[in-house]
Amino acid sequence: MNLTLRVWRQKNASSPGQFVEYKATNISEHMSFLEMLDVVNEGLIKEGQEPIAFDHDCREGICGMCGMVINGVAHGPLAATTTCQLHMRHFNDGDTLTLEPWRARSFPVIKDLVVDRSAFDRIIQAGGYISVATGGTPDGNSIPVPKPDADRAMDAAACIACGACVAACKNASAMLFVAAKVAHLNTLPQGKVERDRRVVQMVKAMDAEGFGNCTVIGSCEAVCPKEISLDFISQLNREYLRAFLRAKE
Ligand code: SF4
Repeated sequence: MNLTLRVWRQKNASSPGQFVEYKATNISEHMSFLEMLDVVNEGLIKEGQEPIAFDHDCREGICGMCGMVINGVAHGPLAATTTCQLHMRHFNDGDTLTLEPWRARSFPVIKDLVVDRSAFDRIIQAGGYISVATGGTPDGNSIPVPKPDADRAMDAAACIACGACVAACKNASAMLFVAAKVAHLNTLPQGKVERDRRVVQMVKAMDAEGFGNCTVIGSCEAVCPKEISLDFISQLNREYLRAFLRAKE
């Protein structure tokens, strides 16, 4: 298949960017989206041009590194799918595809389609951990966890911190990401020690990084490759209120 790509090219955070058009020719429908970009980049390198910068690592949909806006949709048109797991058979020969980086003030562009998501790292540093006694590996069954709690924590832990939720939100809100991380740890007995402190500190860090507020539009849930539910945002709000009231006691 042959495609036309309109790609956002930006030298660095301080330079203005622009769309540049490229042809992607002889693309196999079995290629992943990133493999298609690899082919385009090989051609650019052969011509002595600067390859398109894009983020990637595991290419298995689990690391959270890849991500771009494809024709206006974060991670592209296929639901519950990261950019690396999106295959070219979901597009048509002759299509024109517009590729943009995540657009949010808290995710400044580093180059082309690569953005700086270290704001997420700082939110995790604020509370996305548990305190454990060091020493030997504890027996896996030494802390009983009710099955519904284990299932809910696992659902929340599926978040890969890709940032698509922020890119899709008109407010550039990081509430779905923070909600998943808080719910993952606050639901488990191991996470109860820092329960109140965690939610307060992570929400504070989220606000300090400049992410917007949630107005329950749901675009985050719609693009999330791991299908993190909006319900976790409700839990985040309850956890925050609980911590606030307990601080008043
Ligand atoms: Fe990505 Fe979903 Fe986690 Fe947001 S909630 S960072 S979209 S995996």
